[in-house]
Amino acid sequence: MNKLFIRDIDVRKKKVLVRTDYNVPLDEEGEITDDTRIRATLPTIDYLLDEKAKVIIASHLGRPDGKVNPKYTLRPVVRRLQRFLNEKVKVSMATDCIGPEVKKQIGEMNYGDVIVLENLRFHPGEAGNDPGFAKELASLCDVFIQDAFGNCHRKHASMIGINNLVPSAAGFLLKKEIDYFEKSVNNPMRPVAALLGGAKVSDKIKIIDNLSKKMDKVLIGGAMAFTFLKAQGFGIGKSLVEDSMLDVVKNLMDTSRRNGTKLYLPVDFVVAENFNGRAETKVVPYQEIPEKWIALDIGPATTKLFSEALQDAKTILWNGPMGAFELDAFSRGTYAMVDIVTNSHASTIVGGGDTDMALHKAGKTHDVTFISTGGGAFLKLLEGSELPGIAALSDRKV
Ligand code: AMP
Repeated sequence: MNKLFIRDIDVRKKKVLVRTDYNVPLDEEGEITDDTRIRATLPTIDYLLDEKAKVIIASHLGRPDGKVNPKYTLRPVVRRLQRFLNEKVKVSMATDCIGPEVKKQIGEMNYGDVIVLENLRFHPGEAGNDPGFAKELASLCDVFIQDAFGNCHRKHASMIGINNLVPSAAGFLLKKEIDYFEKSVNNPMRPVAALLGGAKVSDKIKIIDNLSKKMDKVLIGGAMAFTFLKAQGFGIGKSLVEDSMLDVVKNLMDTSRRNGTKLYLPVDFVVAENFNGRAETKVVPYQEIPEKWIALDIGPATTKLFSEALQDAKTILWNGPMGAFELDAFSRGTYAMVDIVTNSHASTIVGGGDTDMALHKAGKTHDVTFISTGGGAFLKLLEGSELPGIAALSDRKV
């Protein structure tokens, strides 16, 4: 990485603002139901506490649209962080994320303690990348550490504007995300395969295009497969399709053929009379999807084909479900891929909310090499795009 890393920068006894992505799910009582994103930032926080820094945590939560809304307070994070950190570390809550009162609170805290700023998105200046708001944030600290990988595709004040005002560097989580991405996409152990699913080709076309230049194999499941099948002239019944993408998909198939990337499409499907978990279903080969039926999952022959295609892979990248996996009747293909990926000896990198959820439900989150914490940001990286939040960090001098 050509950006400064936390270890490259002097943080000892400094006021360090850490941008985290604590956009965590909450239940109706405001309790955190999944603290993965908080735990993922502990290496950075622990490092700063060892360096006796004043740790100032900044994050967004939900979409309060620039207005104070108690529903989106970061207070629950304080309790959870306190539970994770050494009991001698005091974790307190700031009254806001900018302003004289917050400065006073930071002034009064001890080195080696933590303060959590209130939701950045209570101020319109955050999403608007307002220079005044960035300046206020920067005035709270000596050093800025970016660890909010999941938000790095957004051009917000705490992602972009603040970087020009104080020395900035990547935290441990951000570095880990970038390193795994590099290892799986730009410099992978080969053969490298991408398993891609989900509903819309239009959402993922840039990813398929980019990966078909870099992978040895690209396996396409989920509803995206029907646009590929229709582009080749096959009937797809009432399955999801994007007619506007047919030409794009045809070109993509030509290019991957020219690049020597092998593209795998499903060879059979679970079809249903309608999109309903209790509808009648049957398994049919890809050329025989009945006119009035909907294909909602990959079938067993496809699972076998994909399993064989992944057999020799040394690196596997996975994003997107193989079918409408939220309904049990159409979840078998996705969970079969969970088994295949988690039993593989390859380095396995997984990203995206649905894929993550399938691993969680199967209790197999520990059986992959790396799960990205960033949905949208991970997808942007897969597209081959530069993330603004990373580009804005201070450069490492060579
Ligand atoms: P995406 O957000 O593009 O990754 O798409 C995820 C969604 O795709 C999930 O909600 C799945 O239910 C849906 N999906 C996957 N395969 C199918 C299919 N064959 N028919 C309808 N929906 C599907």
